[in-house]
Order: sequence, then structure tokens, then C-alpha cells
Amino acid sequence: MRVLQLVGLREFRWEEKDTHTPGLGEVRLRVRAVGICASDIHVYAHGRIGDTFLKSPLILGHEFSATIDELGPGVKGLSQRQLVAVDPAVPCEKCEFCLQGNPNFCQSLRFLGSWPHDGALSEFLCYPAHLVHPVPEEIFTSSDAAMIEPLGVALHSLKLGHVHPGDSVVVHGCGPIGLLLIQLVRNAGAMEIIAIEPIPHRRQMALELGATHSLSVDDHQVEGVLEITKGRGVDRVFEAAGENEAVGDAIEVCKPGGRVVLIGIPVEDVTSFRASPARHKGLTIMLVRRMKHTYPRAISLVEAGKVDVRRMVTHHFPFEQTPDAFRIVENREDDVVKAVIHMSE
Ligand SMILES: [Zn+2]
Ligand SMILES: [Zn+2]
Repeated sequence: MRVLQLVGLREFRWEEKDTHTPGLGEVRLRVRAVGICASDIHVYAHGRIGDTFLKSPLILGHEFSATIDELGPGVKGLSQRQLVAVDPAVPCEKCEFCLQGNPNFCQSLRFLGSWPHDGALSEFLCYPAHLVHPVPEEIFTSSDAAMIEPLGVALHSLKLGHVHPGDSVVVHGCGPIGLLLIQLVRNAGAMEIIAIEPIPHRRQMALELGATHSLSVDDHQVEGVLEITKGRGVDRVFEAAGENEAVGDAIEVCKPGGRVVLIGIPVEDVTSFRASPARHKGLTIMLVRRMKHTYPRAISLVEAGKVDVRRMVTHHFPFEQTPDAFRIVENREDDVVKAVIHMSE
């Protein structure tokens, strides 16, 4: 089978690898669609994400869908050719954190596409059957199913944000996660949803998906939010830009006693902000670590038409063109928001 390895900064290599037979409790997946995530771009362009460095060739890809190619021994409740969304995190299920219901804090977690664990840019993959989630094929395309992963992250972020009906909310950064969050906070009953985003077409998309206001990043975005909220600030802020300036803005625009959720991953592995406003306002700052137990809810939300995961997928590429897709996403060429690689038909 063909796989695509990242071998250095912005450098890929095609490889042939053996296809395996699924072991006990595993299925062999035929990968269908793989979304390119901002975290993939971190590794591709900087050779690291946070404190995880690329030390040897790695197959990227963790937002993906597949069809079941073969069932291993002991697997029940799944059938061949079924379309599934795949949870890329394999927790140990034995450690203190897993047993407490927080597999996202598992210290021996295997996460696909995060060094040293190979990801989904591969034709086939053997994987634990209990981590694949069937999706209704009359509603989901393979690309929709790949979007369940970022939707899961957005859902987990929403949970940490404690959004209540009538709240005012800022979403800073309108990439795929920000655009999904806008829809989720709208579903949660937020009244004012203010999107902050430098790129015009992403601001437009934010408005179409439920934002009530949009502001550019022009040194006046903080005043803009304070104007809309009559000087009070918003109840909740979600920072999905991965930049310290956005974190700084989040602190400034949040109301006293409000809650700020940090989702973005900073390139330099440092998050800093002005201490006084955060202290004076007694803010609660939540940091998002991936997600947990969100796939079934994410699938139902899409199935019920409550969340549109298709609108933000602006680009589709065949597997062969993956290197071009990474370049386009890194440089934000051609108004790209989310790019999805299609492995096979
Ligand atoms: Zn991702
Ligand atoms: Zn564990």
C-alpha cells in the first residue's frame, strides 16, 4: 500500500508499505478522506507542535474517515464497507486519568499523526474497532465524516466554556474550529456571537454560520467588542487563533467573572497575556486538551442538521496532490479554509 511520509520541513516522500491483517478486536480500515489540520501544518512547517518534535519520518493525518475493509477476530457490530469516522486517540484505558474518565489526559496515549505514531495518510490502517464510529451514509460524505474530529474538539471546547442561553460570546479566529464553535454556541443559545478574524471571506462565512457581528483584526477589535457590549465585555471568549495577540484580546474583551477558553496552539510553545486585567476581572481560563467522548454527539449534531461541517471544506484534493494541498493550506492560498484529501473512491 502507498503511504506519504513527512521526512523533513515541507518535504514529503512516497513509500510502499505492507498491509497488515487486523488483530484481535481490530478492523482494517481503507482510509477515505483526511482533513488537513492546523496542527499538521505546525509539524510540516516547523517540525514541531508544542513540545513534540519530528525526529524521524512520520505519516501525518488524524482527521479522517474510512470504510471497513476487514474485521479482525472478536469484532461485532460492524460490517464490511461501512463508512466510519475514526477517533485518532488511543488511550491506555488503565491509567489513573483514563479510569477517572479523562482519556485526553492519558500519559500513554497514542495519537495518530503525532510523532512517533503514524497517521492516516496511508491507504490502509489496522485500528481498534471500538474507536471507529459508523455514520449514516445517506447523510454523510466521506469528507463530512472526516470533519467529526474537529467538531469533537469544538464540542469539548464548548463544554469547557459553560455557555448559557442569552450569553454573549466572542470567537477569536475563524478557521474550521472557530466556525464550528460559532454554530455550537448558537445551538447553546448564545445571543450575541462576535467573530474576530483577519481574513474577509472567513468573516463572511462566520456571519453565514451564525455570528451576529464580525470584526477584523485591525487594532480596534477590542474597542469593537466593548462597543457592541456597551462597555461590559462578553460572558465567554473562545480563542481559536493560536496567537498570543488573540489571547491578549480575549483577556481584554471578557467581562469580570467571565470565562476564556484557549484552543489555539502557539507556534513558539509560549502563551502570555497581561496579568492585571485577568486578575482584576477574576477570569477563569480553561485550556483545551483535545477531546473526550464527543464522537457520538458530534455525529448526531450533523445528522440532525444542527451543525454544517460541509460549508467550511473549501478544497478537495486526490491523495497524489497532498504536497500541494499542504502548501496551499500553509500559505492560506485561494481562500482555503479546510482542505480534505481523498484517498480513494
Ligand atoms: Zn486536528
Ligand atoms: Zn491512560
